[in-house]
Amino acid sequence: MTTELVSAYTEDGSALNEETIRRAGRVLREGGLVAFPTETVYGLGGDALNPASSKKIYAAKGRPSDNPLIVHIAELEALSAIVKKIPEAALALAEQFWPGPLTMIFEKSDLVPMETTGGLSTVAVRMPDHPAALRLIREAGGYIAAPSANRSGRPSPTLASHVYEDLAGNIEMILDGGHATIGLESTILDLSVEKPVILRPGYITKEEIFGVPGMEEDRVPAGLHKMSDKEDFHPKAPGMKYRHYAPKGDMTVLCGPMQRVAEALSELSRAASARGETVGILCSKETAERAGLSEAVLFSPASREDPAGIAAGLFEGLRRMDEASCTVIFAEGFPEEGVFIAVMNRLKKAAGGNIIHI
Ligand code: AMP
Ligand code: MG
Repeated sequence: MTTELVSAYTEDGSALNEETIRRAGRVLREGGLVAFPTETVYGLGGDALNPASSKKIYAAKGRPSDNPLIVHIAELEALSAIVKKIPEAALALAEQFWPGPLTMIFEKSDLVPMETTGGLSTVAVRMPDHPAALRLIREAGGYIAAPSANRSGRPSPTLASHVYEDLAGNIEMILDGGHATIGLESTILDLSVEKPVILRPGYITKEEIFGVPGMEEDRVPAGLHKMSDKEDFHPKAPGMKYRHYAPKGDMTVLCGPMQRVAEALSELSRAASARGETVGILCSKETAERAGLSEAVLFSPASREDPAGIAAGLFEGLRRMDEASCTVIFAEGFPEEGVFIAVMNRLKKAAGGNIIHI
């Protein structure tokens, strides 16, 4: 199959390309796959209510079929048809964070096929904050199932070219909407259980979520995010058990005071290049300046004072390491607060749990 890569916008970039998005909507309604931009990362979309489409998504990604998909909607009114009941807290959360990078999990209605939910009786739902995505969802009939548009195990795509790299030849169409502004997948909150639990940290922090009326108590069990790193952990968010985001090189995250991390980065990278390794480094601008890392492939998207900037460049950085054929990769660790919790979650997964505390 030939994959069409086409802009979601008009030539001068001033408006959505209505004709293109209508055509993409038709592809989806006919059971095809379209990758599309969202504010988090690019999604690989299929009709969420069509079991055959969901099967195609798993096949195109090479994704294990017990790893459920997120259903994307464009209006709050669309929610009631696909869930059994809407807890009150969900309405307060939707009011505050939708459209936006929060996914909520509910008991599913019969309308949602098991193929979409990876065999689960629950469904994950999100309303993305991106004009092209919202328009496409409406054109497609209201429900798009979409995991991140990468091959399974690869870093999530934050540019249309990343999607093309991973999925060209396997899907009908890619809508190019430029850079995904947030660059991290959504925060996932399970509302199908008595005590709501964050299953995946994201750009919306647990403080923000548990500050919403009806959610005041901090109900996240201590250590939940750490549990997911254990092999015997049988996760409620099934995707958590699979290897993720991993670049091809051997990756290590260095945690500790910034000055010490900078020193360790420069020592370790010098030693590795002396051994003949191609060294890649992912770090903040400050650390890059301190460490003087001339012999390494360096990717430093933003200042440490700008966690959102670090988050936005993270997956692109991981892909850059592969493009440069890095055999050894060092990443700067960050204090686990706010958005850095989600950044560290992705870094640890990319490193397969390889962390050094200095
Ligand atoms: P992504 O990893 O961005 O492709 O988004 C899909 C992720 O959403 C899966 O890997 C799961 O972790 C999570 N998810 C989707 N549906 C459910 C569900 N019903 N229950 C728990 N987690 C879910
Ligand atoms: Mg993913």
